[in-house]
Amino acid sequence: MRQHKLALCAEHYLDWIPEQTERFIKKYAMFDRDEKILVAVSGGKDSLSLWDILVRLGYRADGLYLALGIDAGIGYSRESRRLTEKFAVERNLTLHVADIEATYGKSIPALAEISRRGQGRPCSVCGLVKRHEMNRIARDLGYDVLATGHNLDDEAAVLFANTLAWSEEYLLRQGPVLLGSDGLARKVKPLCRFYEREMTAYAIARGIEYIYEECPFADGSQSIFYKETLNRLETARPGAKLTFYLNFLEARRSGNLFIDRNTAQIQLHPCPNCGQATSAPGLCSFCRMIEKTKNSP
Ligand code: SF4
Repeated sequence: MRQHKLALCAEHYLDWIPEQTERFIKKYAMFDRDEKILVAVSGGKDSLSLWDILVRLGYRADGLYLALGIDAGIGYSRESRRLTEKFAVERNLTLHVADIEATYGKSIPALAEISRRGQGRPCSVCGLVKRHEMNRIARDLGYDVLATGHNLDDEAAVLFANTLAWSEEYLLRQGPVLLGSDGLARKVKPLCRFYEREMTAYAIARGIEYIYEECPFADGSQSIFYKETLNRLETARPGAKLTFYLNFLEARRSGNLFIDRNTAQIQLHPCPNCGQATSAPGLCSFCRMIEKTKNSP
């Protein structure tokens, strides 16, 4: 790990990652041992590793898998679900599975096509549905915290995109912890300071079987383009991604982002249908999308 000037053998690496994770959990006041944690698991290396680490650290962590119905190519959803269920069964862990098609009558690609959101790519509908369902299920099942496996590469790419567009509201909201409100669980990202390759190394050294393939719709996405751009920067300047992210967090913490919170923060109110916070007048975007697609075959 060039950015830390540190090299470890597999055995010590498998201790170092949970120790560091515990340090980040405490530093950012993510949660404590009395709280119930729901880990959003996709079958990928980051989310399965996060679940594994939290259980190893002794936290009360259950899993949530969202079956999106993306079965093009290798049968992405089928395979990721199989690996997630296998992971949970082998470790005797509690896994909740929410099937989008069974709940709303349509898969993510079908919802995207009917609602005509996202210009031929289902990612905006997928993000909307995932956010809504994770919030809903965490609230309905009484979890205090919703944990996701976002790593440093994910966070740096989002920060890069938000900085290029100077999206003030998103910049204010981005961080390792998003406080809960109005019955919504707190959202936390315990892996946000680990590079993607560090999580890959952890998953492999731990013998975690995860889905290697990306979702077929990820190909050519903006976030992959930004990740590749930042990887080139990282190769030339080791540690650049970590510095970019940590300096942003520090500026945000000390109020030095040159953003006026009063004008950048939008007003939220509960959606009259689902109760989740929304800035839209009337129904939230998710409920409007479901209304629109309800009567389509
Ligand atoms: Fe959803 Fe796949 Fe797009 Fe990710 S890449 S948001 S999983 S459709």
